[in-house]
Amino acid sequence: MTDTFKPAPETIAAAHGVAHDSSFGAVAPPLYLSSTYAFEGYERAGRYDYGRSGNPNRDMLGDALAALEGGAGAVVTATGMAAIDLVLGLFGPDDLIVAPHDCYGGTYRLLAARAAKRQFRLRFVDQADAVALDRALAEAPALVLIETPSNPLMRVVDIAAIATRAHAAGAKVAVDNTFLSPAVQRPLALGADYVVHSTTKFLNGHSDVIGGAVIAADAGEVERLRGWANVVGVTGSPFDAWLTLRGLRTLFARMERQQRNAGLVAAWLEAHPAVSAVHYPGLASHPGHAIARAQQQGFGAMMSFDLAGGAPAAARLVEAITVFTLAESLGGVESLIAHPATMTHADMGAEARRVAGIGDGLLRLSIGLENPDDLIAGLEQGFAALV
Ligand SMILES: *Cc1c(COP(=O)(O)O)cnc(C)c1O
Repeated sequence: MTDTFKPAPETIAAAHGVAHDSSFGAVAPPLYLSSTYAFEGYERAGRYDYGRSGNPNRDMLGDALAALEGGAGAVVTATGMAAIDLVLGLFGPDDLIVAPHDCYGGTYRLLAARAAKRQFRLRFVDQADAVALDRALAEAPALVLIETPSNPLMRVVDIAAIATRAHAAGAKVAVDNTFLSPAVQRPLALGADYVVHSTTKFLNGHSDVIGGAVIAADAGEVERLRGWANVVGVTGSPFDAWLTLRGLRTLFARMERQQRNAGLVAAWLEAHPAVSAVHYPGLASHPGHAIARAQQQGFGAMMSFDLAGGAPAAARLVEAITVFTLAESLGGVESLIAHPATMTHADMGAEARRVAGIGDGLLRLSIGLENPDDLIAGLEQGFAALV
């Protein structure tokens, strides 16, 4: 291989860091648990000195994620929330942050709590509403946070269009890419400055690690983020990074199969008489279908649907469904079902849920790697309880 060889994304995911062990030739990357590293001599630190500031496993995962997202570098954090908070930590009391009104519940809670402590100013807006967004941009925000597709209604916004307008207003742009992963959407190529991830979800993909990452387009921003992560101590554990890199190996194969399964399940749900609406960007009926088709390389493996029978129907369905597990989280190899009104979005309160369009009969699915016939058989068992 020559120096100009540029591996494709699938190759990066499968092989970044493979067979780089100079001690024993291990093919799978070794795990470096050591909290501290020997200096080479007086005032001569080696590449690593202390595990909070740097660790080979974290760097290996971060470099792979940065390459996949097309960024200058990454900081691997202990959780997805820590990744978002790391970005928020770059801003101060005079800065205005504009966030989506329907962002992830934990992000909503973090933003509101930090703003209440006057760490920055905050506006929640419906970013699909161009007038509302322009009104917020007229206040010269420092950061615009984007989340697309949104949770749990899978609303899609145009990242490139928002980034262009945000930059014209002097704002930086961060995109939470957790719901799709870089296998399906690459926000930096669409103009974003930062990508944040809960690596807990599709990137690790096996529901056995909590973690996060921030990827920045600009090398100077990576250094700022890395420095602040060391100051506040939010970097992730070596073993979590090691496991997440192992999960990342199969990202492209998992996403390809999981979104194929999701398309089959969405089409089945759309034809079911007990379902009043299916929210999946891959359906031609979805309002964000055209934007999703243009800015994504697929439609992902998350969806939600409304039951005509409301909360009582949702309760009966989740008790009777098989194959799917009733649980929060998403992005693993196993299929999950969640009832946002009583689970992921319970803290929002009934009125905020009503405004956001999250009904009591809404169910969210994370589609895994099971045989699609079994997924539909599991759903059939659930729906059979409604008649
Ligand atoms: C899960 C999630 C987070 C938070 O990540 P944790 O790893 O649970 O801290 C942030 N954003 C989105 C979109 C998520 O789904």
